[in-house]
Amino acid sequence: MDLSLMNKEQKEAIQHTEGPLLIMAGAGSGKTRVLTHRIAYLLAEKGVPPYNVLAITFTNKAAREMKDRVHALIPNADDAHKIWISTFHSMCVRILRRDISHLGYENSFSILDPTDQNSVVKSILKNRNLDTKQHHPRKILSYISDKKNQLIDPAEAMSESVGFSDGLYSEIYKDYQEILYRNSSLDFDDLIMLTIELFKKEPQVLEYYQNRFQYIHVDEYQDTNQAQYELVSLLSQKYRNICVVGDSDQSIYKFRGANIENILNFEDDYPDAKVIFLEQNYRSTKTILDAANAVIGNNTSRKPKDLRTVRQGGKKIKTILADSERAEGQEILRHVMDLSSKYSYSDMAVLYRANSQSRAVEDAFVKGSVPYKMIGGMKFYSRMEIKDLMSYLKVIQNPHDDISFERIINTPKRGIGLKTVEKLLNYGSVNELSMYDAIKEADFIGIPKGAIVTLMKLEDMIENLRKKSKFLSVTELVDEVLEDTGYISVLEKEDTLESRSRIENLEEFKTVTREFDNDNDVSDELLFNFLSDMALVSDQDSVEADSGVTLMTMHASKGLEFKVIFVVGLEEGIFPSQRVMFDEDELEEERRLMYVALTRAEDQLILSRADSRMIYGKIESNVESRFLKEIPTELIDGGVVEIDSKKAQNPFAKRGGRTHRRTPTVLTDNSGVTFKVGDKVAHKKFGDGIISNIKGEGDSKELDIIFTKEGPKRLLANFAPLEKK
Ligand code: ATP
Ligand code: MG
Repeated sequence: MDLSLMNKEQKEAIQHTEGPLLIMAGAGSGKTRVLTHRIAYLLAEKGVPPYNVLAITFTNKAAREMKDRVHALIPNADDAHKIWISTFHSMCVRILRRDISHLGYENSFSILDPTDQNSVVKSILKNRNLDTKQHHPRKILSYISDKKNQLIDPAEAMSESVGFSDGLYSEIYKDYQEILYRNSSLDFDDLIMLTIELFKKEPQVLEYYQNRFQYIHVDEYQDTNQAQYELVSLLSQKYRNICVVGDSDQSIYKFRGANIENILNFEDDYPDAKVIFLEQNYRSTKTILDAANAVIGNNTSRKPKDLRTVRQGGKKIKTILADSERAEGQEILRHVMDLSSKYSYSDMAVLYRANSQSRAVEDAFVKGSVPYKMIGGMKFYSRMEIKDLMSYLKVIQNPHDDISFERIINTPKRGIGLKTVEKLLNYGSVNELSMYDAIKEADFIGIPKGAIVTLMKLEDMIENLRKKSKFLSVTELVDEVLEDTGYISVLEKEDTLESRSRIENLEEFKTVTREFDNDNDVSDELLFNFLSDMALVSDQDSVEADSGVTLMTMHASKGLEFKVIFVVGLEEGIFPSQRVMFDEDELEEERRLMYVALTRAEDQLILSRADSRMIYGKIESNVESRFLKEIPTELIDGGVVEIDSKKAQNPFAKRGGRTHRRTPTVLTDNSGVTFKVGDKVAHKKFGDGIISNIKGEGDSKELDIIFTKEGPKRLLANFAPLEKK
């Protein structure tokens, strides 16, 4: 295998195949690249069979990328497919799917999403006559998640609890776990916790996987939590061929239980471990790397490390100071359009601290007709009709999934009242039956005759669909569901704007199923696999939806790289966020997040902030982020300010009223064109239309246009690709 494109340390890491290996290195130093080459090397040079190799990544997107790269390096496609490259969660789904019955769960278990979890907690609170305002479900869920990540079961949580609310939470945790068990449902954290439980309870199952995975690789090891750590330890115990890579400066998931000690203690866990440092960065220009190194240098609780780049020089960092979050969005848009002559949209990404910050940028992109893809794909999947359809599919897969069943029992309306639902639930909970099974005994429960007939019909329909699911593609099954349940015909009859858009969304859902069907043959397991896939679609997954500028949180950007990176909202109180300002540890975690964000960039960084912005309905003014001040001014375009030294540190120091905002250049065909109401225009994408209204001034000037084909839209006069006719 040709390793000539690797540096000395990288080669060493690739060739050190036996025994524990730790690769500790800064961003962009080729850690992930080493992993992929090491896997190829194991097969090509060491004759290791592909099924003996396991690689664990942090996100589905990372897994897919790693697969693509490994597949490109391995000539035999069959071999490449046999390697397990997956996230912790999808690996555990596969393991549990085979053997979870040892723990008393059905092999066809469902996976709950956060909304489902929420409704479980709400129902527990209701049963216990507790107020959801006083006991916030999200807080309880985060308590439960914490416990699971530390592998603490309800009994242990109860015995350890101190104080009233801790005690109460531990009891809710117990109820929660019982409900999930009764429904044969698992939440995300269960996937890992129960796999460990399975391994501990059934040593022969563990041994099977130990023998299977003789060479284990973990990317982004700095972000593993206790449970993940334990899982890796169990699997690698027998052969001890474990290779972990990571960067302690990029540990950013403490809030999900990540434990930075896992990587720092690797050498204690494996005293015979070989440790390799990589110090050559291949991703970013010197300017970008200098900025990132300067920022992270302010963290006191870290070992300093060397990271040099082969890419000397590079463009200076650009900064934007806008008046408002809206103006910030427009400035980003302006830069994106400017850069689009040199880069494609997909080379650019906009990063923010919190998902809610995307809206202003989205607004600008929509009105400027710049294509973009959002990460945080939940939006689409949390729409009502999509959740309904998913619930049907889940019930078809596992009728004992009460949470989904409750959702569809009267959707579309078929005359099943709340009382009937409650009776079924109560009867089920007393007799330890699912609602679906309780229906069979509806006669004893005091459910009205008419409702019983309807329920029987529903059960028949589901059984029918269940049979069909064995020989239909997912897309065909979805069509059957929408037909048989009457879901579509109800929407069609309604014939409102809203119902039409719901139908469109359901259509859009079929693009998802079609894609899945293209890659998977019809089989008994098709629906299960589809639902597993859907449940595991993490935030990063929508990156690949189509081409366009990527919008995502800094957290979601981990491991990725783009030519141009925008970081928005660099203000005290936003980033670092208000919450962490007075806690040194949290502040350092936030600074690591800044380091991650900056090091995603290959060629160009653009950092922005707004003088004031609307937050939760209030206008707030924040001073510039300390993280910005930590970037040496000489790295910033126009950053060397001649006035007094304090201000010189501040790249956004105002000079003469206006800032160093770029002087506008000609970006669109619109400059010089004045639009007025009634003008006929042509838009590149939307076609012909007529201006119905004009608002605002300058860059913010907005045109309401009624397009012949696409209907009314609001666009930015200076940015939208418009021509006057
Ligand atoms: P991160 O910490 O952000 O996850 P990383 O250490 O995993 O980064 P990679 O993503 O593996 O880094 O590599 C960064 C970039 O540098 C990639 O584009 C990769 O292809 C390139 N690269 C790595 N090593 C070399 C090399 N020896 N020669 C040329 N390019 C390299
Ligand atoms: Mg990486």
